[in-house]
Amino acid sequence: MKVDGACQCGFITYETEIDPDSVRICHCTECQTFSGSAFRIATSVAEEDFKLLSGKPKIHIKTAESGNLREQVFCPECGTHIYATSIGDGPRNFGIRIATLHQRNELTPTRQIWYRSAQPWVKDIGSIPHIDTQ
Ligand SMILES: [Zn+2]
Ligand SMILES: [Zn+2]
Repeated sequence: MKVDGACQCGFITYETEIDPDSVRICHCTECQTFSGSAFRIATSVAEEDFKLLSGKPKIHIKTAESGNLREQVFCPECGTHIYATSIGDGPRNFGIRIATLHQRNELTPTRQIWYRSAQPWVKDIGSIPHIDTQ
């Protein structure tokens, strides 16, 4: 499925090809901190299928629990996280952040990972009172 995306301010734009059946929710504590939210939603694409159309992202390098280094790639202007990837020579996969895609409403996650650190209320989010706008 061909998709395109952008950061919040529009400085970074990109297009890529994803498998709509491999969208995952990650509940790890680092995704919670990086996003400032309860979880992040991602899918993996091959580096050669990712085409940056505008902007130059900033790269933050972090050490994973395994000791591996990971690049966290985000917009230097608005801070929107675009993808994460490994360090070193390819072939690499980019973990694209689904919420930056214009087609995000068409994509339903099929898997949840790091569920052991999921925020307890997430498991029953439908029961929290809600209104259609703020
Ligand atoms: Zn931006
Ligand atoms: Zn995570």
